[in-house]
Amino acid sequence: MKNLWNDADAEKMVADYAKMGVRRDLALRVYTTRLLGGEPRLVLHGGGNTSCKTKATDLVGDEWDVLCVKGSGWDMAVIEPQGLPAVKMGALLKARALDTLSDEDMVALQRSNLIDPASPNPSVETLLHAFLPLKFVDHTHSTAILAIVDQENSKALVKTVFGDKIGYVPYIKPGFELAKVAADVFDTDPSVEGLILDKHGIFTFGDDAKQAYDRMIHYVTIAEDYIAKNGKPQATKAALPAKLAKASDIAPTLRGAVAVARGEGRFDRMISDFRTSDAIVDFINSARIAELAGRGVSTPDLSIRIKTGPMAVPAPDADKLGDYKAAVRSHVEAFAKDYRAYFETNDALDDVKRTMLDPMPRLTLVPGLGMFGHGRTLKDAKIASDIGEMWIEAVRGAEAIGNFQPLSKADLFPLEYWSLEQAKLASNKPKPLTGQVALITGGAGAIGAATAKLFAANGAHAVIVDLDPAKAAEAAKAAGNNSIGVGADITSPAEVRAAFDKAVAVYGGVDILVSNAGAAWEGRIGEIDDALLRKSFELNFFAHQSAAQNAVRIMLEQGTGGVLLFNTSKQAVNPGPKFGAYGLPKAATLFLSRQYALDYGAYGIRSNAVNADRIRSGLLTDAMIASRSGARGVSEKEYMSGNLLGQEVTADDVAQAFLHQALAERTTADVTTVDGGNIAAALR
Ligand SMILES: [Zn+2]
Repeated sequence: MKNLWNDADAEKMVADYAKMGVRRDLALRVYTTRLLGGEPRLVLHGGGNTSCKTKATDLVGDEWDVLCVKGSGWDMAVIEPQGLPAVKMGALLKARALDTLSDEDMVALQRSNLIDPASPNPSVETLLHAFLPLKFVDHTHSTAILAIVDQENSKALVKTVFGDKIGYVPYIKPGFELAKVAADVFDTDPSVEGLILDKHGIFTFGDDAKQAYDRMIHYVTIAEDYIAKNGKPQATKAALPAKLAKASDIAPTLRGAVAVARGEGRFDRMISDFRTSDAIVDFINSARIAELAGRGVSTPDLSIRIKTGPMAVPAPDADKLGDYKAAVRSHVEAFAKDYRAYFETNDALDDVKRTMLDPMPRLTLVPGLGMFGHGRTLKDAKIASDIGEMWIEAVRGAEAIGNFQPLSKADLFPLEYWSLEQAKLASNKPKPLTGQVALITGGAGAIGAATAKLFAANGAHAVIVDLDPAKAAEAAKAAGNNSIGVGADITSPAEVRAAFDKAVAVYGGVDILVSNAGAAWEGRIGEIDDALLRKSFELNFFAHQSAAQNAVRIMLEQGTGGVLLFNTSKQAVNPGPKFGAYGLPKAATLFLSRQYALDYGAYGIRSNAVNADRIRSGLLTDAMIASRSGARGVSEKEYMSGNLLGQEVTADDVAQAFLHQALAERTTADVTTVDGGNIAAALR
């Protein structure tokens, strides 16, 4: 592994932080923490931590010996000084004399000795850092080190590979007990330059930031060289179907299979992130992939992200996709059954009250194609994929030099169900649409953009489809929550299909369609140009049909229901003069909505329509408002609020109606009127 230390960069960071009053020790601690954090083969998404022993001044000017140690929630790659909270050393060192210390008391001890009480929680490995006497301490879950410690004979192998300058610490769950044992190992031979923790990772330390970092890179390189020199090629590959299906063909099926059924047709859905590369596919094409996946995670804290380990499913045959759905479902059921048994067996061992997490896999390996990370948000799904890549690295290395044998699942359990993690979970309530994907046509227009924003604020990921790709991207950015913009002419069935394919590629599927795009053409119906009427039908009817067809195709694959929402406008029930070219296809779309409700209700797919009227938008522009209000001899304000409530109706009001219809789980074949009240247009 390349050593990235650079004197000039280090000194520049010291100088820059000095201007903000940050001490040299802490600035260098930030510098090498970022070097370590930027390398996924060392640390990933919260795994690993660093510290330095230095001095800090409190509010009344007293100077204290402190440990600046990584705080929970900070990513090492982008850490700042405030991500390394200062804890008074005196109290931490005294704790070593205690016989026991519960996790809750350990956190209380650490928090009550913070110099700044607003700091994040210091790492769970804080005491281990404190008990080691050297000034700088670095800790990573290096994949090369894991390949060596995830072996049956790991103790002997550590000695063979690293020699006498590394201490060996048997596996103990992170916390007080591990800190004491690691400190004892160090005390028996204080000449060691690092400690290797069985089934877990490596600590190195030094008198300065560079020494601790150099040692980390040195020992990781020794491990990498050992694997390269002694590794044997991978075992036999599995036979693959002659014609493999594509990832997009199976993504909705898989996404549906891993959704958590809450009963009575309700689901907590997940997002799927597909990841592939030659290295990924080469590894998961192993004939032994299911067996390897079943052995578990390469380092225990991964269980917080990917539970007991990945799930392997068969390679999909393009000619037998019908059978594949059942195969995937039975694999997911088997995974969930094993997970429940793992929970029940280990939970029964003591009296601690725990809440079982959902039993669904977070990482699925598909031979021939790649892997899917699953999570309640796109971010969580991507984290699962990132972890999957490093799991592959560690297991490939372990299998090359021996036999991958990670921590047993019984030992993993206390970590996945660590009391502090359970507490974090209880406070982390999902939003009403978390895990759902909403595709919105006309998404960059006033109503579409307002709907996308509201849906994203309620937890959905929005796929904003608009004729103008730049505007779609802009609306996606405004909506937030990792939403995406897609340019498409929705009167082209091929472009509609491509927009849905994009939603599947990014999120794994679609749960909500807001079929909103439309445009109005005027003219007395008896004199209207035939081509214009047909053009209006293409956009105001057939485009709704092709979007709905695609949505239903994906929803049926997922098997978790869904909802179709149509913008049908007031014209569908109450025609306006010279508005036939617009009203006729909209009336057809209102009945289209009812037809979908009728034909797909049995599959849990709902279909509703919103009848909006007189909304300031691309369809009713400011110029049109000025001319129409002028023609009627009323002010613009009077024109826009000419309804029973006497208030202007906005795009946000329409978005609220769509959200209501999306959330009302027992409402289908409904029409919601959003016009401030217009008796002539009221539905009977
Ligand atoms: Zn660790």
